[in-house]
Amino acid sequence: MSAVCTWRRALFGAIAYGACAGGIASAQAILPPSLELRVPKAPTLGTAESGSFLTYELHVTNFSGQPMTLKSVDVLSGDATLFTLADSALTQSIARPGQTVPASDRAKIAGGTRAVVYLWVPVDARSAPASIRNRVKVEQGTGDSTRTQELEGAVVSVLRMGSDIGPPLRGGTWLAGNGPSARSGHRRALIPIGGAPSIAQRFAIDWVRVNDTDSTYSGDRLKNENYIAEGNDALAVANGRVVAVKDGLPENVPGVSSRAVPITLETVGGNHVIIDIGGGRYAFYAHLKPGAILVKVGDTVKKGQVIGLVGNTGNSTEPHLHFHISDGNSPLGSEGVPYGLDSFEIVGRCRTFNIGCTRETPKTRRGEIPLESVLVRFP
Ligand SMILES: [Zn+2]
Repeated sequence: MSAVCTWRRALFGAIAYGACAGGIASAQAILPPSLELRVPKAPTLGTAESGSFLTYELHVTNFSGQPMTLKSVDVLSGDATLFTLADSALTQSIARPGQTVPASDRAKIAGGTRAVVYLWVPVDARSAPASIRNRVKVEQGTGDSTRTQELEGAVVSVLRMGSDIGPPLRGGTWLAGNGPSARSGHRRALIPIGGAPSIAQRFAIDWVRVNDTDSTYSGDRLKNENYIAEGNDALAVANGRVVAVKDGLPENVPGVSSRAVPITLETVGGNHVIIDIGGGRYAFYAHLKPGAILVKVGDTVKKGQVIGLVGNTGNSTEPHLHFHISDGNSPLGSEGVPYGLDSFEIVGRCRTFNIGCTRETPKTRRGEIPLESVLVRFP
């Protein structure tokens, strides 16, 4: 019964056929790698200054007891390879939830563990694919028994954005802090809520307002009123209905570690408003000033209406508006989706946050999402 032996062994550890008593062949068992490939949130085609993109995560879980090393990820559409991640670009795109792994080892997935690959795939909007597939190449074993295999995951539909929205703020200059990019803190915030990990903040922006010298405040940096963002109007980005309001949390003293209240799931977003803007999209405004929210749950709002004032409440270091759109009425337990703004101007950009900023001739952008660290003027 060498065939049974082989199959059982193969099932429990992908051991070589030849290792079984009465082995029938010297070839290695050709079984697919024992991996789960999953895209928890199908990408929505987005567009920014740099072009159109598909932004999503590929979860790669090793169901075997042996380590596997991810060598490459190909993004396929039909017969075409749209994008390939390999080498250092791949390791820099991998996170290892719950594990502390140096960047150089992130592609090595120990038995029973997971790697999350963060993809930002440039595509041509005029011929964007209706669906994609992911193909991974993995290496297993050591020395002479090293083998490389490929595995292709399920077809994933590409979703389309809803209609463009209006700006969440007026005027400027505003800096798109921690804004959309492959590696921003928001993008990587994979948080399990209610038993399902999701990235509500996938396209979130922390809007801070800067002056001519790119500072976010003048005078005493410990006073909220000295920050240019403080007290600015936060605007409804579309017609909609208010589905969540939190108010009453006091403002923090500006600073990296100063928080007026313990940070919990309830307080992390500070005083906030969520507006259902239709089409399965929810606009989230966080860290608002206490006692200044002008809407209540159930209110209908008009695009451009003032809903509250920018403040410094919840998990916030200085007055700013954290704004994102996601697919559910939950600040963190939903999936972030891209959006296009009707119109805004890019007036400069910074290397990071408000460091290394340069100004440039203003350019009007339409139907795009601002990317990380651009300086923006809204109508
Ligand atoms: Zn934020």
